[in-house]
Amino acid sequence: MRTYQIGVMEGDGIGPEIVGETVKVLKAVQQSVDGLEIEFKYYPVGLSSFQSNGATLPEETVEGLKECDAGLLGPLTTHIYDTGNPNMINPSGALRKGFDLYANIRPTKTYEGVKTKFSDVDLVVVRENTEGMYADRNMHFNTGEFMPDPDTVLSFRVVTRKGSERLARVGFELAQGRKKKVTIVHKMNVLRKGCGLFYDSSLKVGKKYSDTVIDDYHIDAFAMHLIQRPEDFDVVVTTNMFGDILSDQAAGLVGGLGLAPGLNLGDSFLIAQATHGSAPDIAGRNIANPVAEILSAKMMLEWLGYRNGHQSAVHAASLIERAVEEAFKQKMMTTDLGGICQRQNLVIS
Ligand code: ATP
Ligand code: MG
Repeated sequence: MRTYQIGVMEGDGIGPEIVGETVKVLKAVQQSVDGLEIEFKYYPVGLSSFQSNGATLPEETVEGLKECDAGLLGPLTTHIYDTGNPNMINPSGALRKGFDLYANIRPTKTYEGVKTKFSDVDLVVVRENTEGMYADRNMHFNTGEFMPDPDTVLSFRVVTRKGSERLARVGFELAQGRKKKVTIVHKMNVLRKGCGLFYDSSLKVGKKYSDTVIDDYHIDAFAMHLIQRPEDFDVVVTTNMFGDILSDQAAGLVGGLGLAPGLNLGDSFLIAQATHGSAPDIAGRNIANPVAEILSAKMMLEWLGYRNGHQSAVHAASLIERAVEEAFKQKMMTTDLGGICQRQNLVIS
């Protein structure tokens, strides 16, 4: 029997709704899998935490997470945070940096029953998660932008050899268990130095994986190929902001943001967090699609299982995925997928 301590942070907007449904799924799966126990520890983040604890990311949350095996995080409405207030930092960014969660793994996949223009998409965007245009957010400055005078803005981007190589390693390792194809996405013709370093570092790592097919595209060309022939891609490695944009585009190919999970991965910690934001427009109406967060928790169990050599956690992850597949086959859909929101219980064993 292995007990995992999971730090649950509900977040803003639809966060409490989708995290709440995800915890229900995790509780159900631990009941049906022998040898797996999950202990849920709730920690405050976001606007509700600011109101009750005076900070969007209080010390107790960070300290609590250090005692956990992994985190489960909801989305955050950071664009309304006051960037001038040091108690209103972006918890996502701070946790990614603080726990050095350098790879953001964002898979997209077509599910039978979900209406889309494509039928066999199955790809993963591996987004660098601690550098790029987001480099100094929450660390020394509030953003990676400066105004040397009132009419000029400088936005800077950081790319390091270490950051690029370790990101590429995650991508190539991931491809080993998939179609063994890695696509490097960059904009080397303009960002010669930064994207050049990212490309060279990725290629250097890739040389060690002789059975893996490697190709590369400029981001503009790749955006077109992704729309025209998404089924040809497997693992995509790219820098932070390119990965952010491409993972939303990839989600659009398979039914939208409600289906796009994500995992923030470091060498010693990981945090499950859906790709989408806090969707304030639909918050509190009980119509948010919880699948992206549920599948993020599935990835969390899968990685915990692999890393600890713990088959029960890997099995639990596969049960969650099957439950999602089955729900779609049975046409249980939230409104974003064209369904009507009706809660039903599904038993998978
Ligand atoms: P944020 O500033 O937190 O990123 P946002 O307004 O950009 O919030 P997103 O969550 O990024 O909102 O998503 C954009 C739109 O996609 C939302 O307005 C919402 O309608 C839809 N959406 C996103 N996630 C979901 C979901 N889980 N279920 C249903 N619809 C969603
Ligand atoms: Mg958004």
